[in-house]
Amino acid sequence: MTPPFSYRGGALHAEDVPLEAIAKEFGTPCYVYSKAALVSAYREISDAFSSIGHLTCYAVKANPNIGVLNLFAKMGSGFDIVSLGELQRVLLAGGDPSKVVFSGVGKREDEMRAALDAGIFCFNIESEPELDRLARVAQAMNRKARISFRVNPNVDAKTHPYISTGLRQNKFGIPYDDALRLYEKAEGLESIEISGIDCHIGSQLTELSPIVEALEKILILVDTLEERGITLSHIDMGGGVGIRYSDEQPPEMAEYAKSLITKLAGRPLKLILEPGRFLVGNAGILLTRIEYLKHGEEKNFAVVDCAMNDLMRPALYDAYHEIVQVNAGQGKDVYEIVGPVCETGDFLGHGRTLGAKEGDLLAILSAGAYGMSMSSNYNSRPRAAEILVDKGDCHVLRERETLASLTEFERLIPDAAQS
Ligand SMILES: *Cc1c(COP(=O)(O)O)cnc(C)c1O
Repeated sequence: MTPPFSYRGGALHAEDVPLEAIAKEFGTPCYVYSKAALVSAYREISDAFSSIGHLTCYAVKANPNIGVLNLFAKMGSGFDIVSLGELQRVLLAGGDPSKVVFSGVGKREDEMRAALDAGIFCFNIESEPELDRLARVAQAMNRKARISFRVNPNVDAKTHPYISTGLRQNKFGIPYDDALRLYEKAEGLESIEISGIDCHIGSQLTELSPIVEALEKILILVDTLEERGITLSHIDMGGGVGIRYSDEQPPEMAEYAKSLITKLAGRPLKLILEPGRFLVGNAGILLTRIEYLKHGEEKNFAVVDCAMNDLMRPALYDAYHEIVQVNAGQGKDVYEIVGPVCETGDFLGHGRTLGAKEGDLLAILSAGAYGMSMSSNYNSRPRAAEILVDKGDCHVLRERETLASLTEFERLIPDAAQS
């Protein structure tokens, strides 16, 4: 495969295109994705799980651009959505609604209706009131809603507390000990069809053992349900497989697959996976230009033209992203890499060594997941452009926002109302 991002003649390229040329043509800051990297991550999962019946449901929230969704849809991917907005994106991108699972703790009635209308595969139910509501909504539409319960297996995913979701104190899923009762209740509801069971214990998982432990607990439930006459046809193990940002050692996809497949051997259960970060994280970078080098009394700052509004992960989770120079520079200094936003939390990286001058380009690596999708207009900054590189070609997946777009939905108070 074409390496997604590599140096050629001292210049960083996205596939066959110099990032310098992308900055020149599309401006900065700018997200740049490698098509080859997206395709190869998807194939890595298909290959690893080829020996069992499975469906990859890409977690849209990691990177919801319809161009990205369209690429995965064409490869046969399903989708994991958490809102009506994400459902609309999937449909616009040509995704197959019968391969969509709907997650999230706060599904509204109108979202349930739209999802039923679209004919999605399954609602991942996260509470008893949600089950009651879905049953009512489906009944009123004269439909049957397929469901799984998202069960909280109470395992420690050993990841950042903000992205750990499988502990008893988290808001996600139904308590493990309520599962039997709720399945039995669901079985008695005319407008509900039980399809499977679901769990997602967290994100950026770098250890296999919590996933395996969760699966073991889920399988105990599957067996108990079977004894009570409730036969499930699918098991959804969520997403969460980590990627490498710096020196983490996330499990190899093949290894992850092997441990799940071994536990599932001999069971007629279709496996659903909901990977987000794994599919897109290392397929994207954020390209930015140095505005100023500021030599302070204690620290040096490289003030760049992207900020926490473009890439929130450092500010939100103290997340680490490798930051590299697009072209070789001279001299060396240690810098805080910061944006122009008026917050001390507005940093992209701490203590990074650069040999750079004003106007040089930097690439913030591993920014394909939860980058653009968590961006905002904070400080009235138009959102960055998104470019997909396919070998020597560039495709605009999203235009840079304009100044006009910033106030598009705002209105002045009419004169008459100001007395
Ligand atoms: C966020 C999320 C995912 C995707 O997580 P990744 O860590 O990006 O793979 C999958 N399923 C659910 C329910 C989620 O909330």
